[in-house]
Amino acid sequence: MASVEQAGQTATTNGEVHDGAGIPVENPASGQVIATVPELSAEQVHELARRGRAAQPGWEALGFEGRARVLLRMQKWVLDNAERVVETIISETGKTYEDAQLAEISYAASAFGFWAKNAEEFLADERIRASSPLVLGRKLVVRYRPLGLVGVIGPWNYPLTNSFGDCIPALAAGNSVILKPSEITPLTSLLMLEALQECGMPENVYQVATGRGETGAALVDEVDMIMFTGSTRTGKKVMERAAQTVTPVSLEMGGKDPMIVLADADLERAANAATFYSMQNGGQTCISIERVYVEEPVYDEFVSKVTEKVRALRQGTPAGPGSVEVGAITFPPQMEVIEGHVQDALAKGARALTGGHRGPGPGQFFEPTVLVDVDHSMQCMTEETFGPTLPIMKVQDADEAVRMANESPYGLAGSVFTRDNHKGEAIARRVEAGAVCVNDAMLNYSALELPMGGWKASGLGSRHGANGIRKYTRQQTLLVTPKLAARKRDVHMFPYRKSTTRMLGRLFRLLWGRGKRG
Ligand code: NDP
Repeated sequence: MASVEQAGQTATTNGEVHDGAGIPVENPASGQVIATVPELSAEQVHELARRGRAAQPGWEALGFEGRARVLLRMQKWVLDNAERVVETIISETGKTYEDAQLAEISYAASAFGFWAKNAEEFLADERIRASSPLVLGRKLVVRYRPLGLVGVIGPWNYPLTNSFGDCIPALAAGNSVILKPSEITPLTSLLMLEALQECGMPENVYQVATGRGETGAALVDEVDMIMFTGSTRTGKKVMERAAQTVTPVSLEMGGKDPMIVLADADLERAANAATFYSMQNGGQTCISIERVYVEEPVYDEFVSKVTEKVRALRQGTPAGPGSVEVGAITFPPQMEVIEGHVQDALAKGARALTGGHRGPGPGQFFEPTVLVDVDHSMQCMTEETFGPTLPIMKVQDADEAVRMANESPYGLAGSVFTRDNHKGEAIARRVEAGAVCVNDAMLNYSALELPMGGWKASGLGSRHGANGIRKYTRQQTLLVTPKLAARKRDVHMFPYRKSTTRMLGRLFRLLWGRGKRG
């Protein structure tokens, strides 16, 4: 039903032709409208859901092998068509070639292979051994069945990785999926629809519901589970709406990731990491380094290294590999947030050592910015900025750094830099976040075996690892009593007898009443 009109042509997707009206998609680096996509109504989303549900049993019946074949074809398709995918991502996000290649193409290519290979093992029946004498001789099994129809709602910062990426395990599990991409970046999701059709995905198993927030809200009402990635504000709305139909949700939301630099850190590596992981993708990554705490003895040297590196970054309209390090700001209202945080900091006594302003148009750019003399009275240290800014704060010691890092409603990820890995790991364990790296940042995301999910206001549930696919299933427990254990009447059944009750009491004490206790 979703269709996209590009370069004067109307292509159809989900089987219907679009009448031309809809949401304009802009290239944020040029400010030009590059396509128009339809805005789906609640009725149209309902129709997609009907089709998705009808298609699901056939997809499930293909089994893990049949589904893996499609996913592995997709893995090859993404690599064979990498230039086209990169071009589409750049056109709707304004990110650099490298940001699209490193964090999107590589993620999708690896994820198709990972879920094709591991879905069967993660969702295999599990035989359970129980300790209760009451179930002696019984066969106990946990099994996983696909939920049916999964709704994925995605943000604009990674149209392939974060919007489409979550569809892969949901599909691998045997569900049909409706993806509601951000209204700002729907084109990559539609390209994936074309690709999946080419790779043999049965019709209506993967569908795209283009539209604004209302389309997302309508999707919540229709599906058996919602995988949401986006801001904490919208995530709460999604959870509230899903509560009306008792629909399970998995929420990947905002962050304010701290980086801690200890006095014994390799400052050159720490400065390179701070620069890269705060500025890659223009700082528009949920797990970007958003604030830095540096131990006092190395603060000046660290600041000077980072400032020099950030000052050297080239920003502008991406023009192929190696052209710029920092691209555009994808979402127009984000410019106000970034500028607001910088101005708030400057008004409260901070200094911008480089950057601090909007870049020249016609696209949306904000200069890579290093802020110092910052504290927690400033928005740049407490609220998600989601732009190319790096506030750096001096702390007395590691304890103060940990205290400051944890003084946040968010808990997505964090990092610690030190030459002493033992100490680094001990500090990492004290940081209240779903993922913490020592002498690194962000890279944990590319290890698909590692669960990734936020604490506190950053999320609920996780992606990747075994739970990254089990959440798209219903768990069912089976207890099968074989002939051998199926007596005419079990000892605990009616009628109750004093002697049996006493005997059971002695048995429970024998089993669970012995052993040392503190
Ligand atoms: P938003 O919360 O604004 O939007 C996310 C999605 O929800 C969009 O598709 C949006 O549609 C849709 N939506 C809006 N209103 C509703 C509603 N009432 N019901 C259902 N869906 C709705 O997030 P952004 O797109 O601005 O993305 C940036 C945010 O995403 C940042 O906070 C970032 O930290 C977070 N993020 C988190 C990640 C993680 O893994 N934890 C990864 C990547 C990003 P529309 O855009 O059309 O309004």
